[in-house]
Amino acid sequence: MEHKLPELPYKKDALAPLISAETFEYHYGKHHNTYVVNLNKLIKGTEFEKMELDAIVKKAKGPVYNNAAQHWNHSFFWNCLRAKQEPELDEGFMLLINKSFGSLGELKAKFSEAALGLFGSGWVWLVDNGNETLSIISSQNAGNPLVEGKKPLLVLDVWEHAYYIDYRNKRADYIEAFWTLINWEFVMHNHMDAKK
Ligand code: MN
Repeated sequence: MEHKLPELPYKKDALAPLISAETFEYHYGKHHNTYVVNLNKLIKGTEFEKMELDAIVKKAKGPVYNNAAQHWNHSFFWNCLRAKQEPELDEGFMLLINKSFGSLGELKAKFSEAALGLFGSGWVWLVDNGNETLSIISSQNAGNPLVEGKKPLLVLDVWEHAYYIDYRNKRADYIEAFWTLINWEFVMHNHMDAKK
């Protein structure tokens, strides 16, 4: 199957100034697009050609894995964001956060620490472990928790290309902005989906 760059779930300037339209032009329009183009080239004539993206991410290694996972991760990341708003968390999901981390503040502190501490390029995830607990996972480069059998709920891209235009070297400021841009409805939807 031909993989396609998904539509962004908002306009390129919707998250400005925290994430600018110029960042989306490069991060979505060039970086993400390149992973999709490369993936389509790499799978042609291979066992992966007819597989769904999730299945490729779980099975492939090397360049096919890298481009498939980067396509998956970015598609997921765009959906984790929306224009600045107050967090609205269901009581049930908040209880799960409290059970796993102590409080939403602790989740944020641990997630931010992981995002700041990740050396080089990678992703930081909130995942559902499948036993009514949540965890934070850091993954290098094109890492994806599906490979470990965990269900992603939320992700932050900490590759330099994600923040260099808006924040230069200040990854901490980008992480701070992230907390005001999270689409919690999407996160809770992913949690409900994980229970199926
Ligand atoms: Mn990226």
